[in-house]
Amino acid sequence: MTNSNKKIAVIGAGLTGLTAAFYLKQKKNSFQVFEKESRIGGVIQTHQKGDFTWESGPSTGSISKPEVMELFEDLKALDVLETAKSVSKNRYILKNNKLHALPSGPVSGFFTPLFSWKDKFGILLEPFRAKGSDPHENLSSFVKRRLGSSILDYAVDPFVSGVYAGSPETIIPRYALPKLYSLEEQYGSFIKGSIHKLKETKTTREKKATKEVFSAKGGLSTLIHKLEEAIGKESIHTHCENLEIRYENNQYIVSSSSTEPQIFDQVIYTASAKNIFEVFPFLNTPPYQDANQILYTAVAEVAVGFSQWEAFPLDGFGALMPSKENRDLLGILFMSSLFEKRAPQGGAMLAVFVGGERRPELLELSDKELQNLVENELKSILKIQNFKPEIFEIQRHFNAIPQYDILTPKRMAAFEAIQNAYPGLFLGGNGVGGIGMADRIKQGKELALNILK
Ligand SMILES: Cc1cc2nc3c(=O)[nH]c(=O)nc-3n(C[C@H](O)[C@H](O)[C@H](O)COP(=O)(O)OP(=O)(O)OC[C@H]3O[C@@H](n4cnc5c(N)ncnc54)[C@H](O)[C@@H]3O)c2cc1C
Repeated sequence: MTNSNKKIAVIGAGLTGLTAAFYLKQKKNSFQVFEKESRIGGVIQTHQKGDFTWESGPSTGSISKPEVMELFEDLKALDVLETAKSVSKNRYILKNNKLHALPSGPVSGFFTPLFSWKDKFGILLEPFRAKGSDPHENLSSFVKRRLGSSILDYAVDPFVSGVYAGSPETIIPRYALPKLYSLEEQYGSFIKGSIHKLKETKTTREKKATKEVFSAKGGLSTLIHKLEEAIGKESIHTHCENLEIRYENNQYIVSSSSTEPQIFDQVIYTASAKNIFEVFPFLNTPPYQDANQILYTAVAEVAVGFSQWEAFPLDGFGALMPSKENRDLLGILFMSSLFEKRAPQGGAMLAVFVGGERRPELLELSDKELQNLVENELKSILKIQNFKPEIFEIQRHFNAIPQYDILTPKRMAAFEAIQNAYPGLFLGGNGVGGIGMADRIKQGKELALNILK
């Protein structure tokens, strides 16, 4: 499958754009990647100092789609794939200033103090509860209706702040959690649907998708370097500020402050939906106005590294703070418990998240104020007596995670209308198709393969 007489522009060199470019290269196509910043990788960025390694963007991905394994295989980079240690299966939730393991089965579910007795017994009735009728019902009402309020408060709410830095009131399951939504749609119940799914036979390809958590040896930037090597630096243009695309005679003319105008037959757009009209001014007209309608949550990510760890045993993936607990943190990832060489022997590396839809104003705090807040919270939650971190690095992401909320169907409809009207234009990015790294890899691959059809 090649398209070799066509020239393709890929906009954005984050994980989605680089994955797309890699598969275009693999199929021997003519393409150029345009990136606004001076570096590639988008939000993925690994840092190192002494024996500490930390991320200032995504920390862990899930191998929930076959495309993740396929990317490492196709890159011949299985040697750098790092899956999290088995301790990652243990996840903590804070309740009354104490960390409790999230139940992993019926027995621990029965004894956990996280959920009410009413909801523990109520689960038995879940298969018999009526199906919802509102396709735009929010996650809060969806979960309350099927599972009960304590499960919403102490499992789903912290999960939503951990993944989306968002709120169950905003998230619409149909768009954000389509698999969960379809369990009710198809089978009338989560329990019945999950049992059904377990019985389905999986193809060899489907078996590549697992529940495992991944990073790369030395951090996620290693994956970005592998992609760059395979794509070839000569095909990637950085510093492309003020990038603008015009449409003339069924072709796309791409220009930026650092590149001469170049003509392309096809364009893959992977940057934010928010900036779509700056890049494509000709789309800023009815009926496409909703294409840039996207809500982001803001997050401060704080890497805290200790050379000696003598507090709460970090025997898990991390700890999440339910909204009900009114804490200043959203969650803490125990990075050095998941992956090798994140902290010196006997030390620890934590990734701490602040802000989100709950507390966006915390991103306005000065570094010093944020440092005090994180210190107080970590001392209280992880029972740290002697708070003397060697690494304390703050990264503020003002447009961190897109929320798949009520604006989503409007944005998707506009994307579809644009793609129907402009042949050769393919719109991706994390405003469509999911926010996780697995979603981004899947989308990048599909965009490249679809453009070749
Ligand atoms: C703080 C944080 C934590 C996260 N944690 C996780 C996690 O633990 N697990 C997980 O699976 N996912 C996580 N995510 C989500 C995941 O990181 C992202 O969805 C994914 O990396 C996005 O990749 P992308 O290529 O779609 O977008 P981006 O990484 O945003 O890349 C888009 C690229 O386009 C460039 N660009 C923008 N505008 C233009 C323009 N006009 N012209 C040219 N280039 C342009 C940008 O500079 C950027 O390089 C996290 C995200 C954030 C922000």
